[in-house]
Amino acid sequence: MASQNPVAEAPNIWAVAQSQFDHAADKLDLDDDMRRVLRVPQRELTVNFPVTMDDGSVAIFTGHRVQHNVSRGPGKGGIRYHQDVTLDEVRALAMWMTWKCACVNIPYGGAKGGVVVDPKKLSIREVEGLTRRFTTEISPLIGPERDIPAPDVNTNAQTMAWIMDTYSMHHGYTIPGVVTGKPISVGGSLGRNEATARGAVFTLLGWAKAQNRSLDGMTVVIQGFGNAGSIAATLLAEEGARIVAVSDSSGGIHDPSGLDPARVGGWKREHGTVVGYPGADSVDNQDILELPCDILVPAALENQITRHNAPRVQAKVVAEAANGPTTPEADHILYDNGVFVIPDILCNAGGVTVSYFEWVQDMQSFFWTEERINESLKGIMDRAFAAVHDMGQRHEVDMRTAAYMVAVARVAEATTLRGLYP
Ligand code: NAD
Repeated sequence: MASQNPVAEAPNIWAVAQSQFDHAADKLDLDDDMRRVLRVPQRELTVNFPVTMDDGSVAIFTGHRVQHNVSRGPGKGGIRYHQDVTLDEVRALAMWMTWKCACVNIPYGGAKGGVVVDPKKLSIREVEGLTRRFTTEISPLIGPERDIPAPDVNTNAQTMAWIMDTYSMHHGYTIPGVVTGKPISVGGSLGRNEATARGAVFTLLGWAKAQNRSLDGMTVVIQGFGNAGSIAATLLAEEGARIVAVSDSSGGIHDPSGLDPARVGGWKREHGTVVGYPGADSVDNQDILELPCDILVPAALENQITRHNAPRVQAKVVAEAANGPTTPEADHILYDNGVFVIPDILCNAGGVTVSYFEWVQDMQSFFWTEERINESLKGIMDRAFAAVHDMGQRHEVDMRTAAYMVAVARVAEATTLRGLYP
């Protein structure tokens, strides 16, 4: 079983992001000028800013906001609070947002932000102070027509409400469209919470349909029973699939006869973890990836499927609800072994798609029913899956390369048509 720590050997993700772009650019035969434009972020802002702490002292924090490309529309991408945030990481995440938005053809460019902080060490008041000052520092870049942040690691709907309020205070009136992922009561969207998982399930239905099969009776393993993973479990069970193993940061549980997602969710709410769920065997977080199953859903962290464990992945399809769970070396191994990978920029794009619907609703001050949101999401995800699958078949490439080719071609076309200013 897997013994190596995959995260310890994690490559620099900015180098990975650029090499993934290079690969797609080669396949598309993109000219050198366009490669030079798209290979680097368009704008990067680094800010060092003071926050008054609860004890009256002043702490200085560093944050970044990067816009990789805004040719197809305003920048879009989350803000994360984490002690390991680096400018390179934010650059990679911004570039991935450009491709994700282009892959599902929503009219946004790619952006991302981050503050170097472990928010668990701060009080709520200190996190609010940090959020409001960081918003002020990056306000030259953000705005509903310019760049629209959203939640990411360690930020949530409350953080978005503070950003929206701060930005609105600067302008003297309420501007809900400056961020997405807000609470419903201040302009958030119905369906946003479930959107990432729902979108991932639509791509799995697309995969099954392409082979004239259904998800009914298929077995599923999910690493990461959080927002994306637990809702994916529920939706897949509704399609008739059998959830045989799930995990969280404390470990995993395995029951080949099937787990009830609602009951596991109840156990997790009560005990803080899925571990210890009655009647299931325990399984660790690396071994869970190697269990026999039809569908493997990594929904936790990056760099989980590596060259070490990829040869032992038994699933027929890997649906990347998480961002960056598979390393480039593992990708080759899975492809050679006939494992179908639905890449992150397609599989988890349901989240940014419903963020787009939230922004549209905010701009129009007209709010949709959940039914309309889910139907519109299905339309976008189905079209995106078909475009990527078709590209993959025509060029005989894996789905990740195909998704990049679809996305890079769209961004390159927009950039060419707009021309170089001046
Ligand atoms: P979350 O914090 O709600 O859930 C993450 C889950 O993973 C938690 O249950 C946590 O305990 C678990 N986890 C952490 N370390 C683990 C490990 N080593 N092994 C197994 N489980 C572990 O986060 P989320 O919003 O569900 O996001 C999960 C992934 O999906 C991330 O990669 C995120 O970038 C990606 N994603 C989420 C969204 C969204 O809208 N929520 C959108 C796009 C992509």
